[in-house]
Amino acid sequence: MPHTFDTDAEATGLCAYVDASPSPFHACEEAATRLERAGFARLAETDAWPTDRGRYYLLRGGSLVAWSSEYADDAATPFRVVGAHTDSPNLRIKPQPDLARAGWQLLGVEVYGGPLLNSWLDRDLGLSGRVAVRGSDGVEPRLVRVDDPILRVAQLAIHLDREANDGLKLNQQQHLAPLWGIGTSPGDFREYVATACGAEPADVLGWDLMTHDLTPSRRIGRDSDLIAAPRLDNLATSYAGVQALLAAVDAPPAGPWVQVLVLFDHEEIGSMSERGAFSTLLPAVLERVVRAAGGDRDHYLRALAGSVVASGDMGHATHPNYADRHEPEHQIAVNAGPVLKINAKGRYATDGLGAAAFAAACEQAAVPMQRFVNRTDLPCGSTVGPTTAALTGATTVDFGAPALSMHSAREMCGALDPAMYAGALAAFLSPA
Ligand code: ZN
Repeated sequence: MPHTFDTDAEATGLCAYVDASPSPFHACEEAATRLERAGFARLAETDAWPTDRGRYYLLRGGSLVAWSSEYADDAATPFRVVGAHTDSPNLRIKPQPDLARAGWQLLGVEVYGGPLLNSWLDRDLGLSGRVAVRGSDGVEPRLVRVDDPILRVAQLAIHLDREANDGLKLNQQQHLAPLWGIGTSPGDFREYVATACGAEPADVLGWDLMTHDLTPSRRIGRDSDLIAAPRLDNLATSYAGVQALLAAVDAPPAGPWVQVLVLFDHEEIGSMSERGAFSTLLPAVLERVVRAAGGDRDHYLRALAGSVVASGDMGHATHPNYADRHEPEHQIAVNAGPVLKINAKGRYATDGLGAAAFAAACEQAAVPMQRFVNRTDLPCGSTVGPTTAALTGATTVDFGAPALSMHSAREMCGALDPAMYAGALAAFLSPA
């Protein structure tokens, strides 16, 4: 029996997950909390791992891998992997951020990923991320979250830029510094952060801090059948992946599989880091799962050869005001099911076999599936799919949930889609 997800509960659940996850670090901690409630045990990469089958997960910074080997039969059991990413475009705090200009105190920021910069203007912004603090046993990472509206990137009045509505030009160095106080001399950001994480300023040795919009996620539209929220790209897939894994571990697949969820940080900046999709993270964990089950390198390569990866990222619903930007024969609607993504240039990893695996999962979950291709004359975005396919050699499919306003500080998707999305992924992890 396919696991069915309640539409309202999943829409509410997605909003709660997004609001609990202003940074990739928080997205992983929130996922970890939910997994632990279902009996997943946290492992450290520095430790030897238990040899018994079970439910496990680990964190590497803003990335997470969780797996269940309960339905494996031997060390060469192949993997079913659902992948997504935890990071979203935003503004990140520079290492020496304190500025004073024209009687205002501001913070220097860098642009992370490719945001719609205009969407960050005139919003009440909080601060979140990770701080490296000197502790008694060395450097310890601490999560920080400030939900007070301490920051704002103020737009220039229309009277002082009459052309603003003809195409807003924003210089990333000059125009994006959020203001956070009044004063002729710079503030002390390090001291502020130290207070926020309960440390002495001299013990704040480094940070990965970013801004987030404070408007809560919510259902919108005449019939409340839409969701407006920040970071849907790609917390919507991260959330659906967690929900799917939690359902799949209680739904035995027809054959032996190791069920895996991987949530990568750094997709929006190209995945090339110690914990991005280009890193050792997934291959190292999968090999160690094989070795913990008594296997060797040969078992690992045999397991990979039989594995299937589903890489999820948000997709473009057809925009009613810009319908000509979309391929006319592949119109994508919200609340009409997950989207299979295909690109002949390999920006998506989907091939015919991967497509078939995902179509079978949607069929098993009794949810409709849509098929997306970009207009042939427009460049296509990409995801963690091609990288993961290259590093594992596994059959891979890229898919997503339809959204508008991708990379805006506030995106939108359908309120009926999260349940269908989780249903399809649960079926993928536990194929009948
Ligand atoms: Zn994305």
